[in-house]
Formats: sequence, structure tokens, C-alpha cells
Amino acid sequence: MTAGDADNRQRLPAVDRVLGWATVAALVEAHGRQPVLDAVRDELAHWRASGSPADDTSIVAGVEHRVVATVAPSQVPVFNLTGTVLHTNLGRAPLPPEAIEAVVRVTTGASNVEYDLETGKRGDRDAHVESWLQRLTGAEAATVVNNNAAAVMLMLNTLAQRRQVVVSRGELIEIGGAFRLPDIMARAGCKLHEVGTTNRTHLQDYAEAMVSRPAMALKVHTSNYRIEGFTAAPEERELAQLTRDHAIPFAVDLGAGTLVDLTRYGLPREPTPMDALAAGADLVTFSGDKLLGGPQAGVIAGRADLVARIRRNPMKRAMRCDRMTLAALEAVLRLYADPDSLCDRVPTIRLLTRPEGFIREMAGRLRPVLATWLAEEPVRVDHVAVASQIGSGSLPVDRLPSHALRIRPAARRGSGRLLGHIAARLRRLHMPVIGRIADGALLLDLRCLEDEQAFRAQIQGNELP
Ligand SMILES: *Cc1c(COP(=O)(O)O)cnc(C)c1O
Repeated sequence: MTAGDADNRQRLPAVDRVLGWATVAALVEAHGRQPVLDAVRDELAHWRASGSPADDTSIVAGVEHRVVATVAPSQVPVFNLTGTVLHTNLGRAPLPPEAIEAVVRVTTGASNVEYDLETGKRGDRDAHVESWLQRLTGAEAATVVNNNAAAVMLMLNTLAQRRQVVVSRGELIEIGGAFRLPDIMARAGCKLHEVGTTNRTHLQDYAEAMVSRPAMALKVHTSNYRIEGFTAAPEERELAQLTRDHAIPFAVDLGAGTLVDLTRYGLPREPTPMDALAAGADLVTFSGDKLLGGPQAGVIAGRADLVARIRRNPMKRAMRCDRMTLAALEAVLRLYADPDSLCDRVPTIRLLTRPEGFIREMAGRLRPVLATWLAEEPVRVDHVAVASQIGSGSLPVDRLPSHALRIRPAARRGSGRLLGHIAARLRRLHMPVIGRIADGALLLDLRCLEDEQAFRAQIQGNELP
């Protein structure tokens, strides 16, 4: 040990003394003793290890920095300027205020989530959403679980454990994030009976599979890819007839499961639970937080006897929704009672149907603001036409005309690193901005930017802390 080290050690204050300093005491008051104590210890250890002399001001600043880093919320709101409206990594559907208010209302204290106020006895948590789902989809009954992956798993496990499920080879999809249909089926305890080929499956293929006495037939909406060209698949109506003749259930996993005909808003057509049920499907499954625009949830709707069996499966208990989800879902479903107002009131539908001209004008207004923010960087900021996508596997091929701010390095050399640096600057903003890198540029697609003022304020550096 050198003399200098010994001097520094002597100069470092004791933990208790630092805790007594006014600024540090205020941190204890605000955040509790333990996180501040840990921060003081870590800060003093840092100075001890560094061997450099520490003054009181630097120690306080270091402690403050450490405490703030520890207690800051990990999950924060961000600007989704990726151009993917339903971005799974960014939380998918934004919720309408009605849903958020409902969550606050039922979680601030106790609620009747599973309590029947008529009888004073134990109730059914599905009851809060079931009648809405019946009315909106035409199903006899419905139940809700944690997400659509759970809905598919629970349905298969209930109806086909240790038995065969007939599925077309063209529908054995991977949704992403390890949701692969064959794996889900295996984990649900079912045996996959593949029929047909990747591009063509005929009614006759399903009919031949009936010889091995399967438990059910499943049709999966191949939502995230599209097979084009020489293709064939039987109509849902034909499959419904065939399975009815063999007295087995026919289920359709829709994935997105929009509850309105999207063509009325000028969007491409996407199959609906209403269509599948009307065509004779016994059950449908779909997500709550895709095109429906609600909270993360999985809906199973259809024949009352089958839904009753699914509810009795003990696995349902492990997959059930909490009261926050049920409250939010109920509030969103209520908005569907008035389809004419969906474009205003359900954020997902509002973002998908945003007029292109509106986005274009916003891009025109924000381009100079962003260019000023980036004035010191060797880049060009342009306004370009782009195509947004719906995301979460919905309508994979169809693109929505939109507008973006494009940040392009002036020189090719080192452009990747420069874009990475600018993307990181955007992520470090008070409300992080997430764009996408494409064709050697960073694109900020403005389709999902609703609070233009908040974006502008923080880019101009005068946002509230
Ligand atoms: C998205 C999707 C799922 C999984 O739904 P989650 O809500 O993400 O669990 C299952 N099947 C299909 C066809 C899908 O598109």
C-alpha cells in the first residue's frame, strides 16, 4: 500500500456521516433508508477502489445518481415510431381511457371479480365479459384466459388430450417467441395428425383422416405469412359439415380476431370470429391485444357445452385473467357496441385508420425540429413516404401508407455506428423514442405519434423532467 492510498482512506467519510448530510437525508426521506444505505456503501467502495481523492460534493452526486438509478421505474412509456402498430415488444394495443379508468376503479379496493352480488355467493369471473362476447360474436358461450397461446393450449388439452388433432400442413405455423403450433400441441398432450401439403390441402385429406378417429379438427389462421399461387384449402363451412358428420369439434384459431369488418374503414379484410362461427366452427380462439385493441388476453368462444368443459379443466385456473385484465376487456368490448365510434375511441383502430394526409402534415412540421436537434451530427433529415404495418402477425402482406422522418448519414463510412449512436440518443430521451433502421437510415414512422406536442417538447429540450 502506498502512502497516497492510506491518505485517501483516511479522507473518506464514514457511512453514518454521509447519511447525515442534508441531501442524502432527503433521499432517505423520499426513498427509504435501505436503497440509500446501499448507494452510500457502493459509492464509498468505488472511491476507495479508485484510489483518487473524493470530495463531499462528488460523493453526494454519486450517491444521488445511484439512488435514482435504483428506484427509477423499469417499465416506462415510449414513443412507438417503429411503423408497426401492434408491436409485441412495445406492448401491442394501447388502451382507451375507458379501460384504464375501469382498471383503476376495480383495483383500488376490493371488487366483485368472482362474487355474485345477486346471490351473495361465489361468482364466475368470466361473467363480466361473457355476455359482451356472446352479443358481439354470436357465440353461445365464452371464456377468457391469459393470452391466445394459453387459449389454444387449454382448448387442445381439454378436448384432445392423448388423442389426435387434425391440422393442415400449410397451417403448422410459428407465431414467434417460441409459439410453434406442433410444440404447443405436444405440450397440450395431443397428437398432431397432419394432412395435405404446404400449399394445398383438400377436404378429401381431412375426410381420410377421420378413419383414425381424431378428437377434433383445428384450422389455424396463418396470420403472419401468406402462401400465394397454386394453393387450396377447404372452406370452413365444408370442414364444419365434415366434422359434424363425424361428431367431433371443429375449432378455428384466428390469432388477431377483429370484432368488426375492417373493410368498412378501408382496411384489408381479416377473418372474424363471427364469420367462423357462422360458418359452423364449434369454437374460435383469438387475442385480446391484437386487432381487438384491448388488454393481453385470449378468448375462447363457441358452443356452450365445450366452453363448460374448458372451464372445468384445472389448467384454466393456472391461466385465468386477473381483475385488471377483465375490467379493461369489459370496457373495450363495451365500445364495440357502437361501431361508428371505434375509429375515435379504440386507439388501435384509430391508429390503423389515421388519414395519410394527417401524418404527412405532421412529418412536415416535425422535420425541421428534428433537424435542429441533430444539427451537430453529420446526417440529413428528410421527410419520406413509407408503409406502416399492422404487426403481431396480422395482415402480413398489406401495408398502410404512412410518413416518416428519415435520418441518413451524410457519409457511407461509419454510417452504421453513427445510426446506432443516434438511435441510442433517441432511446435516452426522457420518453424514449423507438424507430427502425432500414436501408442505411433510421426511420421515425409518425403513424403512432399521437402526442405531437410531447414529442416536440422533449426534442426541443424543454420537456418537464
Ligand atoms: C398471435 C397468435 C397466437 C398467439 O396469441 P397471443 O395473444 O400472442 O398469445 C396464436 N395463434 C395465432 C394464429 C396468432 O396469430
